[in-house]
Amino acid sequence: MRLLIVEDDDIVADAITRGLTAANYSVHRVASAEAAQAALMNEEFAMAVIDVGLPGADGLSLVRRLRSTGKTMPTLILTARCTLTDKVKALDLGADDFLSKPFEAAELAARCRALMRRASGASNGIIKLNRMSIDLVGRRLCIDDGEIELTAREWLLLECLVLRIGLIVSKERLQQAVANPDHDITPNAVEVHISRLRAKIGAAATVRTLRGLGYRLEEVKSS
Ligand code: CA
Repeated sequence: MRLLIVEDDDIVADAITRGLTAANYSVHRVASAEAAQAALMNEEFAMAVIDVGLPGADGLSLVRRLRSTGKTMPTLILTARCTLTDKVKALDLGADDFLSKPFEAAELAARCRALMRRASGASNGIIKLNRMSIDLVGRRLCIDDGEIELTAREWLLLECLVLRIGLIVSKERLQQAVANPDHDITPNAVEVHISRLRAKIGAAATVRTLRGLGYRLEEVKSS
């Protein structure tokens, strides 16, 4: 899952990025509401962490803007002074949760998990595909009740493919899903991680390569 971080303070944004990356989330970071809107035109995010004090339009007007354009992903607001009035205002505008600065990275990651769990609703974030059970919130893959250990990158690739099951996912998109601020990843590396993922999934599902187009996760029906 990719999270959008909207924070103009580099030190805070670095800390958030490091914390969420360590919790195996893929993060896209921008420093203004305007840049956030541009990013949202190009990509779907599982949730957004938005600082209130931004240059230009502030974080609360960004939330209002998102809701008025039909974006329903969970939003967590970061604020330096979290007064009751601020909270009520943010909730009225459609925010889902708050965190006052300063905060611990572990708490932010826990709040993000909770919000995404809530957003995934009745399904509990668990997707069942024949012999596979993919817990998007708990980040566990089970095949025939046995847990399969995946690396962080294999997990991000699987997640990206599972959320678009039956659809072609471009290599570029997968590359973007696993990239993090410290390590760029080459198209060849995506291929390597995909083949490792394939080996772990075995016959439970097929990750098909479509030359020049990308990859597609296909369910294997039991016979
Ligand atoms: Ca700020």
